[in-house]
Amino acid sequence: MKTIGLDLKLLDKVYSKVDKTVKFVFLSRGQIIEFSYINKDDGKDIICVPVQTACNLMCEFCFLSDYDLQVRNLTPKEIAPCIDYVVQDLNLLTRLNRNKVFLISFMGCGEPLLNIQNVIESCRQIRDKYQKNYQVVRFAVASLIPKMELMEKFVDSVRKNQIPLKFHLSLHSPDFKARKWLMPAASSIRESIDAVLYFMKCTNNSAEIHYALIDGVNDREEDLFKLVELLKNRNIPIKFLVYNKKPSASFIKSPRIDYFRKILEKEGIATEFYIPPGADIGSSCGQFLMDYYEKYNKK
Ligand code: SF4
Repeated sequence: MKTIGLDLKLLDKVYSKVDKTVKFVFLSRGQIIEFSYINKDDGKDIICVPVQTACNLMCEFCFLSDYDLQVRNLTPKEIAPCIDYVVQDLNLLTRLNRNKVFLISFMGCGEPLLNIQNVIESCRQIRDKYQKNYQVVRFAVASLIPKMELMEKFVDSVRKNQIPLKFHLSLHSPDFKARKWLMPAASSIRESIDAVLYFMKCTNNSAEIHYALIDGVNDREEDLFKLVELLKNRNIPIKFLVYNKKPSASFIKSPRIDYFRKILEKEGIATEFYIPPGADIGSSCGQFLMDYYEKYNKK
């Protein structure tokens, strides 16, 4: 264990064997927080960052829903030193990064809209510190929008602080009932799409939809039909994520991603396909903290 600061230690550093992801496991004020460095050789240094020590929003497909962990909002005093540690440890600033993008992605553990002030302040500090080293420093947030008032506050904060930030709406189903079951804390679908459009208009930033396609759950013909209806002429792209298996759930990834993309593209809806990196080291979508609680705790 390596001491980094008051109440902050590095517990472990894990390298993926299938891609270039490196996971950093920290102990902050007695709780585990995990960051991961992602390098896809596409001109970006990406760090995936947690916003809370755990999450109790109980998404059906998320590993965190299996554990009753203490949820605490992380502060810039915890987030920024961990990012600095990753940057220094991996020697990111000695590389030729003048032409590179530094992307801080708040898509690790927790719901960003439940910790708006600390997320925005962290963005400000990171931007001020690293903008001289990189051509562009930008940010991304993934959220299920737990409450519309929080989205309004978030939009206002991004706009006032002029944060270059892409908003990713975790949709995962266009069907009210199915979505409520998958993500009980999510706001209504129509309101959420309107909130994304509002975000784009007010901040001049871009946004996209996240959709992990799960066999028999959200990949039916009726889901495709509803998706077309929901997204046609909205100018919000949809990104299909390959679903990472949660050990306690019977969900499996859908084989229909190409088909969904083809139909949506025909309707003029832009699509993308993404295999979340770091899956072999428990550092991918829905997996954060999994290795720690499944393996290390049992040693
Ligand atoms: S998917 Fe996100 S919002 Fe849902 S339980 Fe996991 S961390 Fe929380």
